[in-house]
Amino acid sequence: VPLVLSQFLDRAVTLYGDKEAVQCEGRVFTYRQLEGRVNQLSRGLQSIGVAKGDRVAYLASNTVEMLEGFYGIYQLGAIMVPLNIRLKPEDYLFILNHSESKVLLVDQDLYELILPIKDLLQTVEHIIVHYKEEATKEIGYDVWLATFSPESFKRAELDENDVCSLLYTSGTTGDPKGVMLTHRNNYLHALSSMHHLRVTDEDIYLHVLPMFHVNGWGAPFYYTANGATHICLKKATPEAIFREIEAKKVTVVHMAPTVLNSLLQYYDEHKPVVDQKVRIVLAGSAPPHAFIKKVEQELGWEFIQVYGMTESSPLSLISRILPQLSDLSDDEKSRLKVKAGYQMIGAEVKVVDEFGEEVPHDGTATGEIVVRSNGVMKGYWKNEKATLEAIKNGWLHTGDVGTIDERGYIEITDRKKDIIISGGENISSIEVEGVLYDHPAILEAAVIAIPHEKWGETPHAYVVLRENAEVTEQEIIDFSRSKLAHFKAIKSVTFTDELPKTASGKIQKVHLRNEHIESMK
Ligand code: ATP
Ligand code: MG
Repeated sequence: VPLVLSQFLDRAVTLYGDKEAVQCEGRVFTYRQLEGRVNQLSRGLQSIGVAKGDRVAYLASNTVEMLEGFYGIYQLGAIMVPLNIRLKPEDYLFILNHSESKVLLVDQDLYELILPIKDLLQTVEHIIVHYKEEATKEIGYDVWLATFSPESFKRAELDENDVCSLLYTSGTTGDPKGVMLTHRNNYLHALSSMHHLRVTDEDIYLHVLPMFHVNGWGAPFYYTANGATHICLKKATPEAIFREIEAKKVTVVHMAPTVLNSLLQYYDEHKPVVDQKVRIVLAGSAPPHAFIKKVEQELGWEFIQVYGMTESSPLSLISRILPQLSDLSDDEKSRLKVKAGYQMIGAEVKVVDEFGEEVPHDGTATGEIVVRSNGVMKGYWKNEKATLEAIKNGWLHTGDVGTIDERGYIEITDRKKDIIISGGENISSIEVEGVLYDHPAILEAAVIAIPHEKWGETPHAYVVLRENAEVTEQEIIDFSRSKLAHFKAIKSVTFTDELPKTASGKIQKVHLRNEHIESMK
């Protein structure tokens, strides 16, 4: 049997047809109803000429339409190109033209983002807007869907190595690249994730991470395959997240550390009632220890760190505490979770030096993280050069640096591009940020390298303070010196109201570096 993603929805319909598949802004659909809508969408797209291999772009927040979009597009053998909702019009123009998308589906609320570039699109033949009922000018999406039969749909013949998704990377370090993922990539990644997260039909999964970003991308596969219920929120504010967790008895939630941070801050300020014991809070992107401790000790929810990247579907490491480590104290356990964890099933992860040799498993020697897994992409779309640089001898070179300990737990210490080299010593920007997050006045921090005559580079912090908090540059410098080796300590600080972030909530240090260079001119 080829490993194609439609099987996941089939399984849910067969076993859980009348169970709630999704709740979104007051709308509820069972798995059978969802399947009907998926078939209608496939027919609708087919009626406007979409066929196997065509790219169908999708610009939406977490909605029922987006969820059904996955399967509606896949069973046609077409390729979904999700668009990040926080891009600029010129970015949409680039991605839509670069991917040569034929159709664009877009939320009504987001349609205006496309207007400025609508006439410049080279390949898009149809734009389908999710008009709500009240819209009278044009046909509504639901009205359009209703013109097609929900009966089973004749699927395209697919090979598991056919590309199903073209996902553009976050653009944290530069221009986004189009990552080609196959059915097999997503399928096997889903099997591995559902095992490690112990997903069951009792799970109620709250979508906080956007489905259009690879971190939130897997949910439509592994929560669906197990007949879990999806809860979608258009705007995941901290208040809404706590409200939904309580009201819907949410068991699993995945989020970016920056969102987790605002959730915890809201919790401190408003002390909302949270009786619901969330089974898993999952986050990637190096969450500071302070966040992990808080989630586990104050909210009593299990925290799990994961590591991955778009190029590997994404996950390859997970930080659950293995049974043989259950004797560790709570504090030791939460410290262990600062590490991204051990390799997931279906993934091999090594830490290698510049000659490709594995570094000692001692938890201190650093090297580049390389991954060989079922999730590793087919390549970058229309960019063979970048593909050859990224995948060498079957190993994906991640550009991330870390250590591995004797138990196989890997810690991500930095991105190659973010490491600060001061007086010949490597300083992990993540480690220094971790210390700053322990300071009571600091809400957010990002540490970058700035040029220094004597040391080459020194660590410089961009800091956002908590409301009404006051602290001087010198106090922050002293604080970091009290917790870190002196060469690692912050040498200067910029106070700011906001840090530049990607839509998945990652801080774009590349913009901070550019800003700093500008400010020096
Ligand atoms: P671009 O490649 O366009 O610069 P990006 O690398 O941020 O953007 P993604 O694929 O969304 O795009 O993110 C993957 C990266 O996120 C990883 O390479 C790594 O740097 C970082 N990351 C993910 N998980 C973790 C983690 N647990 N700890 C530290 N960093 C992480
Ligand atoms: Mg990247």
